[in-house]
Amino acid sequence: MPNLIDLRSDTVTQPTAEMRRAMAEADLGDDVFSEDPTVNHLQRRAAQLLGKDAAIFVPSGTMANQLAIRTQTNLGDEIILEQNAHILNHESGAAAAFSGVQTRQLPGRRGVITTEQIARCLRGSNDHYAPVSLVCLENTHNRAGGAVFPLDEMKRIYRLTRDRGLALHIDGARIFNASTCTGIPVSAYAACCDTISFCFSKGLGAPVGSVLLGTADLIARARRVRKMLGGGMRQAGIIAAGALHALEHHVERLADDHRRARGLAEGIASVAGFRVVNDPPETNIVIIGVKAHPTETAARTAASSRNAQEVCQALAQRSVLTLPVSDSEIRLVTHMDVDDDAVDQAVGAFRTLKLEAGNVC
Ligand SMILES: *Cc1c(COP(=O)(O)O)cnc(C)c1O
Repeated sequence: MPNLIDLRSDTVTQPTAEMRRAMAEADLGDDVFSEDPTVNHLQRRAAQLLGKDAAIFVPSGTMANQLAIRTQTNLGDEIILEQNAHILNHESGAAAAFSGVQTRQLPGRRGVITTEQIARCLRGSNDHYAPVSLVCLENTHNRAGGAVFPLDEMKRIYRLTRDRGLALHIDGARIFNASTCTGIPVSAYAACCDTISFCFSKGLGAPVGSVLLGTADLIARARRVRKMLGGGMRQAGIIAAGALHALEHHVERLADDHRRARGLAEGIASVAGFRVVNDPPETNIVIIGVKAHPTETAARTAASSRNAQEVCQALAQRSVLTLPVSDSEIRLVTHMDVDDDAVDQAVGAFRTLKLEAGNVC
Protein backbone atom coordinates (compact mmCIF):
# COMPACT_ATOMS: atom_id res chain seq x y z
CA MET A 1 0.00 0.00 0.00
CA PRO A 2 1.62 3.32 -1.01
CA ASN A 3 1.51 6.27 1.39
CA LEU A 4 -1.71 8.23 1.44
CA ILE A 5 -1.32 11.41 -0.61
CA ASP A 6 -3.75 14.06 0.59
CA LEU A 7 -4.33 16.71 -2.07
CA ARG A 8 -7.75 17.79 -0.83
CA SER A 9 -6.47 20.98 0.79
CA ASP A 10 -3.38 22.73 2.10
CA THR A 11 -5.06 22.70 5.54
CA VAL A 12 -4.16 19.03 6.13
CA THR A 13 -0.47 19.54 6.94
CA GLN A 14 1.10 18.16 10.10
CA PRO A 15 3.35 20.50 12.11
CA THR A 16 7.06 19.77 11.62
CA ALA A 17 9.26 18.65 14.52
CA GLU A 18 10.76 22.18 14.72
CA MET A 19 7.31 23.74 14.76
CA ARG A 20 6.16 21.38 17.53
CA ARG A 21 9.27 22.30 19.52
CA ALA A 22 8.56 26.03 19.10
CA MET A 23 5.00 25.41 20.28
CA ALA A 24 6.07 23.32 23.27
CA GLU A 25 8.56 25.96 24.38
CA ALA A 26 6.39 29.05 23.81
CA ASP A 27 6.04 31.68 26.55
CA LEU A 28 2.38 31.88 27.50
CA GLY A 29 -0.07 34.21 29.23
CA ASP A 30 -3.79 34.98 29.14
CA ASP A 31 -4.55 36.54 25.76
CA VAL A 32 -8.00 37.76 26.85
CA PHE A 33 -5.98 40.07 29.15
CA SER A 34 -3.66 40.74 26.14
CA GLU A 35 -0.92 39.13 28.26
CA ASP A 36 0.21 36.29 26.04
CA PRO A 37 3.70 37.32 24.90
CA THR A 38 3.74 34.91 21.97
CA VAL A 39 0.38 36.09 20.62
CA ASN A 40 1.50 39.71 21.06
CA HIS A 41 4.74 38.94 19.25
CA LEU A 42 2.89 37.23 16.39
CA GLN A 43 0.44 40.11 16.03
CA ARG A 44 3.26 42.69 15.98
CA ARG A 45 5.25 40.63 13.48
CA ALA A 46 2.27 40.16 11.15
CA ALA A 47 1.43 43.88 11.33
CA GLN A 48 5.04 44.78 10.60
CA LEU A 49 5.29 42.37 7.63
CA LEU A 50 2.10 43.65 6.06
CA GLY A 51 2.67 47.30 6.97
CA LYS A 52 -0.59 47.65 8.90
CA ASP A 53 -1.10 49.34 12.31
CA ALA A 54 -2.43 46.36 14.20
CA ALA A 55 -3.38 42.69 13.97
CA ILE A 56 -5.63 40.30 15.84
CA PHE A 57 -5.02 36.54 16.04
CA VAL A 58 -8.16 34.46 15.52
CA PRO A 59 -8.98 30.75 15.32
CA SER A 60 -9.91 30.70 11.63
CA GLY A 61 -9.94 32.61 8.37
CA THR A 62 -13.71 32.59 8.56
CA MET A 63 -13.62 34.48 11.85
CA ALA A 64 -11.10 36.98 10.45
CA ASN A 65 -13.36 37.70 7.48
CA GLN A 66 -16.45 37.95 9.64
CA LEU A 67 -14.76 40.40 12.02
CA ALA A 68 -13.86 42.53 8.99
CA ILE A 69 -17.49 42.52 7.84
CA ARG A 70 -18.98 43.13 11.28
CA THR A 71 -16.67 46.05 12.05
CA GLN A 72 -17.12 47.77 8.66
CA THR A 73 -20.85 47.47 8.02
CA ASN A 74 -24.20 48.24 9.66
CA LEU A 75 -27.37 46.09 9.70
CA GLY A 76 -29.07 46.14 6.30
CA ASP A 77 -25.99 47.27 4.39
CA GLU A 78 -24.90 45.67 1.16
CA ILE A 79 -21.47 44.17 0.57
CA ILE A 80 -20.03 43.53 -2.89
CA LEU A 81 -18.09 40.39 -3.73
CA GLU A 82 -17.27 37.99 -6.51
CA GLN A 83 -19.85 35.26 -6.98
CA ASN A 84 -17.51 32.38 -6.10
CA ALA A 85 -15.99 34.11 -3.07
CA HIS A 86 -15.22 32.01 0.00
CA ILE A 87 -17.10 34.54 2.18
CA LEU A 88 -20.21 33.92 0.13
CA ASN A 89 -20.02 30.18 -0.46
CA HIS A 90 -18.01 28.64 2.35
CA GLU A 91 -18.70 30.57 5.53
CA SER A 92 -22.06 29.06 6.34
CA GLY A 93 -24.08 32.24 5.81
CA ALA A 94 -22.19 34.04 8.57
CA ALA A 95 -22.28 37.49 6.96
CA ALA A 96 -26.08 37.40 6.93
CA ALA A 97 -26.39 35.82 10.37
CA PHE A 98 -23.85 37.90 12.31
CA SER A 99 -23.70 41.18 10.44
CA GLY A 100 -27.17 41.34 8.85
CA VAL A 101 -25.82 42.36 5.47
CA GLN A 102 -27.02 41.42 2.01
CA THR A 103 -24.61 40.52 -0.74
CA ARG A 104 -24.20 41.80 -4.29
CA GLN A 105 -22.51 39.05 -6.24
CA LEU A 106 -20.50 39.91 -9.34
CA PRO A 107 -19.27 37.43 -11.94
CA GLY A 108 -15.49 37.49 -12.10
CA ARG A 109 -12.92 36.23 -14.56
CA ARG A 110 -10.74 33.79 -12.65
CA GLY A 111 -12.01 35.46 -9.48
CA VAL A 112 -11.20 38.98 -10.59
CA ILE A 113 -13.89 41.64 -10.55
CA THR A 114 -13.20 45.07 -12.02
CA THR A 115 -13.47 48.65 -10.82
CA GLU A 116 -16.13 49.27 -13.50
CA GLN A 117 -18.28 46.34 -12.32
CA ILE A 118 -18.15 47.64 -8.77
CA ALA A 119 -18.80 51.26 -9.82
CA ARG A 120 -22.00 50.15 -11.59
CA CYS A 121 -23.34 48.79 -8.26
CA LEU A 122 -22.97 52.12 -6.45
CA ARG A 123 -26.29 53.77 -7.04
CA GLY A 124 -26.06 56.71 -4.66
CA SER A 125 -28.28 57.47 -1.74
CA ASN A 126 -31.98 56.65 -1.96
CA ASP A 127 -34.33 55.18 0.65
CA HIS A 128 -34.97 52.22 -1.65
CA TYR A 129 -31.36 51.16 -1.78
CA ALA A 130 -29.32 49.22 0.74
CA PRO A 131 -26.23 51.33 1.44
CA VAL A 132 -23.11 49.66 0.09
CA SER A 133 -20.45 49.87 2.77
CA LEU A 134 -17.87 47.20 1.94
CA VAL A 135 -16.19 45.51 -1.00
CA CYS A 136 -14.43 42.16 -0.43
CA LEU A 137 -11.81 40.73 -2.79
CA GLU A 138 -10.09 37.33 -2.55
CA ASN A 139 -6.35 36.92 -3.22
CA THR A 140 -5.49 34.28 -4.20
CA HIS A 141 -8.95 33.19 -5.30
CA ASN A 142 -9.62 29.69 -4.03
CA ARG A 143 -12.41 28.49 -6.32
CA ALA A 144 -10.74 30.04 -9.35
CA GLY A 145 -7.78 27.74 -8.71
CA GLY A 146 -5.48 29.88 -6.60
CA ALA A 147 -5.67 32.75 -9.09
CA VAL A 148 -3.76 35.91 -8.23
CA PHE A 149 -5.76 39.14 -8.08
CA PRO A 150 -3.64 41.69 -10.00
CA LEU A 151 -2.22 44.49 -7.87
CA ASP A 152 -3.07 47.17 -10.45
CA GLU A 153 -6.77 46.32 -10.39
CA MET A 154 -6.70 46.23 -6.58
CA LYS A 155 -5.23 49.73 -6.59
CA ARG A 156 -7.94 51.03 -8.91
CA ILE A 157 -10.65 49.43 -6.78
CA TYR A 158 -9.15 50.91 -3.62
CA ARG A 159 -9.15 54.36 -5.21
CA LEU A 160 -12.85 53.92 -6.05
CA THR A 161 -13.82 52.64 -2.60
CA ARG A 162 -12.00 55.52 -0.90
CA ASP A 163 -13.57 58.09 -3.22
CA ARG A 164 -17.02 56.67 -2.50
CA GLY A 165 -16.53 56.26 1.27
CA LEU A 166 -16.62 52.43 1.24
CA ALA A 167 -14.29 50.03 2.99
CA LEU A 168 -12.21 47.42 1.14
CA HIS A 169 -11.40 44.07 2.71
CA ILE A 170 -9.00 41.53 1.21
CA ASP A 171 -9.64 37.89 2.05
CA GLY A 172 -5.96 37.07 1.76
CA ALA A 173 -6.15 33.53 3.15
CA ARG A 174 -3.35 32.72 0.66
CA ILE A 175 -1.82 36.19 0.19
CA PHE A 176 1.67 34.74 0.68
CA ASN A 177 1.02 32.45 -2.29
CA ALA A 178 0.07 35.51 -4.36
CA SER A 179 3.23 37.29 -3.27
CA THR A 180 5.39 34.24 -3.98
CA CYS A 181 3.93 33.99 -7.48
CA THR A 182 4.32 37.65 -8.45
CA GLY A 183 7.33 38.67 -6.36
CA ILE A 184 5.26 41.59 -5.07
CA PRO A 185 5.66 41.95 -1.29
CA VAL A 186 2.59 41.20 0.84
CA SER A 187 2.84 44.76 2.17
CA ALA A 188 2.12 46.12 -1.33
CA TYR A 189 -1.12 44.14 -1.45
CA ALA A 190 -1.96 45.14 2.12
CA ALA A 191 -1.44 48.81 1.24
CA CYS A 192 -4.42 48.62 -1.15
CA CYS A 193 -7.12 47.92 1.42
CA ASP A 194 -8.54 48.89 4.79
CA THR A 195 -8.40 45.37 6.20
CA ILE A 196 -6.73 42.13 5.15
CA SER A 197 -6.89 38.63 6.60
CA PHE A 198 -4.62 35.65 6.04
CA CYS A 199 -4.33 32.07 7.25
CA PHE A 200 -1.40 30.39 8.98
CA SER A 201 -3.16 27.05 8.65
CA LYS A 202 -3.06 26.79 4.84
CA GLY A 203 0.17 26.69 2.81
CA LEU A 204 2.17 28.15 5.69
CA GLY A 205 1.64 24.85 7.46
CA ALA A 206 0.63 25.83 11.01
CA PRO A 207 -2.02 23.72 12.72
CA VAL A 208 -4.39 26.59 13.66
CA GLY A 209 -4.93 30.27 13.21
CA SER A 210 -5.50 33.31 11.06
CA VAL A 211 -5.08 37.02 11.49
CA LEU A 212 -6.98 40.21 10.64
CA LEU A 213 -5.03 43.42 10.08
CA GLY A 214 -6.09 47.06 9.91
CA THR A 215 -5.99 50.31 11.87
CA ALA A 216 -5.54 50.16 15.64
CA ASP A 217 -9.06 51.49 16.14
CA LEU A 218 -10.63 48.87 13.88
CA ILE A 219 -8.65 46.02 15.43
CA ALA A 220 -9.72 47.18 18.92
CA ARG A 221 -13.35 46.92 17.78
CA ALA A 222 -12.64 43.53 16.17
CA ARG A 223 -11.34 42.31 19.56
CA ARG A 224 -14.72 43.04 21.09
CA VAL A 225 -16.53 41.15 18.30
CA ARG A 226 -14.09 38.24 18.60
CA LYS A 227 -15.04 38.02 22.29
CA MET A 228 -18.75 38.08 21.42
CA LEU A 229 -18.22 35.15 19.05
CA GLY A 230 -16.36 33.14 21.68
CA GLY A 231 -13.02 33.61 19.97
CA GLY A 232 -11.22 35.05 22.99
CA MET A 233 -8.59 32.40 23.69
CA ARG A 234 -6.49 32.13 26.85
CA GLN A 235 -2.95 30.67 26.55
CA ALA A 236 -3.25 30.98 22.79
CA GLY A 237 0.51 31.41 22.49
CA ILE A 238 0.74 27.64 22.23
CA ILE A 239 -0.85 27.85 18.76
CA ALA A 240 0.48 31.32 17.95
CA ALA A 241 3.98 29.87 18.29
CA GLY A 242 3.22 27.49 15.41
CA ALA A 243 1.94 30.42 13.36
CA LEU A 244 5.03 32.49 14.17
CA HIS A 245 7.29 29.61 13.22
CA ALA A 246 5.39 29.27 9.92
CA LEU A 247 5.81 32.97 9.18
CA GLU A 248 9.55 32.83 9.83
CA HIS A 249 10.32 29.51 8.12
CA HIS A 250 7.65 28.44 5.65
CA VAL A 251 7.14 31.39 3.32
CA GLU A 252 9.98 30.84 0.88
CA ARG A 253 9.13 27.20 0.37
CA LEU A 254 5.72 28.11 -1.10
CA ALA A 255 7.53 28.31 -4.46
CA ASP A 256 8.02 24.52 -4.21
CA ASP A 257 4.26 24.05 -3.82
CA HIS A 258 3.69 26.16 -6.92
CA ARG A 259 6.23 24.20 -8.94
CA ARG A 260 4.62 20.93 -7.85
CA ALA A 261 1.14 22.21 -8.73
CA ARG A 262 2.42 22.93 -12.25
CA GLY A 263 3.93 19.43 -12.34
CA LEU A 264 0.60 17.90 -11.34
CA ALA A 265 -1.22 19.96 -13.96
CA GLU A 266 1.20 18.99 -16.74
CA GLY A 267 1.09 15.32 -15.78
CA ILE A 268 -2.69 15.11 -15.55
CA ALA A 269 -3.22 17.15 -18.74
CA SER A 270 -1.51 14.35 -20.64
CA VAL A 271 -4.04 11.78 -19.41
CA ALA A 272 -7.03 11.25 -21.75
CA GLY A 273 -10.33 12.36 -20.27
CA PHE A 274 -8.98 15.13 -18.06
CA ARG A 275 -8.21 18.78 -18.64
CA VAL A 276 -6.67 21.46 -16.48
CA VAL A 277 -9.26 24.20 -15.96
CA ASN A 278 -6.79 26.77 -14.59
CA ASP A 279 -4.02 26.09 -17.07
CA PRO A 280 -1.34 26.81 -16.00
CA PRO A 281 -1.95 26.97 -12.25
CA GLU A 282 -0.46 30.17 -10.84
CA THR A 283 -0.05 29.02 -7.25
CA ASN A 284 -0.78 25.80 -5.32
CA ILE A 285 -4.29 24.86 -6.52
CA VAL A 286 -5.10 22.78 -9.61
CA ILE A 287 -8.67 22.42 -10.89
CA ILE A 288 -9.21 19.37 -13.12
CA GLY A 289 -12.21 19.05 -15.42
CA VAL A 290 -13.59 15.56 -15.98
CA LYS A 291 -16.46 14.69 -18.30
CA ALA A 292 -16.84 10.93 -18.02
CA HIS A 293 -17.38 8.21 -15.43
CA PRO A 294 -14.49 6.01 -14.50
CA THR A 295 -15.37 2.58 -15.94
CA GLU A 296 -15.13 1.02 -12.49
CA THR A 297 -18.17 3.00 -11.32
CA ALA A 298 -19.97 3.45 -14.65
CA ALA A 299 -22.12 0.35 -14.36
CA ARG A 300 -23.37 1.34 -10.93
CA THR A 301 -24.10 4.94 -11.69
CA ALA A 302 -24.87 5.05 -15.38
CA ALA A 303 -27.56 7.68 -14.88
CA SER A 304 -25.41 9.94 -12.75
CA SER A 305 -23.46 12.92 -14.03
CA ARG A 306 -21.45 13.20 -10.84
CA ASN A 307 -18.27 12.24 -12.63
CA ALA A 308 -16.02 14.25 -10.34
CA GLN A 309 -17.22 12.44 -7.22
CA GLU A 310 -16.65 9.09 -8.86
CA VAL A 311 -13.17 10.01 -10.04
CA CYS A 312 -12.33 11.14 -6.50
CA GLN A 313 -13.57 7.80 -5.14
CA ALA A 314 -11.52 5.87 -7.66
CA LEU A 315 -8.43 7.94 -6.84
CA ALA A 316 -8.98 7.39 -3.11
CA GLN A 317 -8.84 3.65 -3.76
CA ARG A 318 -5.40 4.35 -5.18
CA SER A 319 -4.42 6.25 -1.99
CA VAL A 320 -4.76 9.72 -3.58
CA LEU A 321 -7.25 12.02 -1.88
CA THR A 322 -8.78 14.84 -3.95
CA LEU A 323 -11.84 17.05 -3.54
CA PRO A 324 -14.81 17.28 -5.89
CA VAL A 325 -15.75 20.98 -6.21
CA SER A 326 -18.61 20.46 -8.65
CA ASP A 327 -20.11 17.53 -10.56
CA SER A 328 -17.44 17.87 -13.22
CA GLU A 329 -14.44 19.43 -11.46
CA ILE A 330 -12.01 18.25 -8.84
CA ARG A 331 -9.48 20.23 -6.85
CA LEU A 332 -5.90 19.29 -5.99
CA VAL A 333 -3.83 21.40 -3.63
CA THR A 334 -0.10 21.08 -3.01
CA HIS A 335 1.38 21.76 0.43
CA MET A 336 4.26 20.97 2.78
CA ASP A 337 3.42 17.28 3.03
CA VAL A 338 3.40 16.73 -0.75
CA ASP A 339 6.86 16.08 -2.21
CA ASP A 340 8.02 15.35 -5.76
CA ASP A 341 7.42 11.61 -5.35
CA ALA A 342 3.86 12.29 -4.21
CA VAL A 343 3.28 14.35 -7.36
CA ASP A 344 4.55 11.46 -9.51
CA GLN A 345 2.39 8.96 -7.63
CA ALA A 346 -0.70 11.15 -7.97
CA VAL A 347 -0.18 11.54 -11.73
CA GLY A 348 0.39 7.78 -11.92
CA ALA A 349 -2.95 7.19 -10.18
CA PHE A 350 -4.72 9.34 -12.79
CA ARG A 351 -3.04 7.29 -15.55
CA THR A 352 -4.50 4.06 -14.15
CA LEU A 353 -8.07 5.41 -14.26
CA LYS A 354 -10.10 4.27 -17.21
CA LEU A 355 -12.87 6.61 -18.23
CA GLU A 356 -15.89 5.54 -20.26
CA ALA A 357 -14.99 5.60 -23.92
CA GLY A 358 -16.56 8.09 -26.29
CA ASN A 359 -17.40 10.55 -23.59
CA VAL A 360 -14.09 12.14 -22.70
CA CYS A 361 -13.34 15.81 -22.82
C1 LIG B 1 -9.58 28.68 3.77
C2 LIG B 1 -10.10 30.00 3.37
C3 LIG B 1 -10.66 30.89 4.30
C4 LIG B 1 -10.79 30.59 5.78
O1 LIG B 1 -11.04 29.31 6.11
P1 LIG B 1 -11.03 28.72 7.61
O2 LIG B 1 -11.22 27.29 7.32
O3 LIG B 1 -12.18 29.35 8.31
O4 LIG B 1 -9.73 29.05 8.24
C5 LIG B 1 -11.08 32.11 3.85
N1 LIG B 1 -10.96 32.45 2.58
C6 LIG B 1 -10.41 31.66 1.66
C7 LIG B 1 -10.25 32.12 0.27
C8 LIG B 1 -9.97 30.39 2.02
O5 LIG B 1 -9.44 29.59 1.11
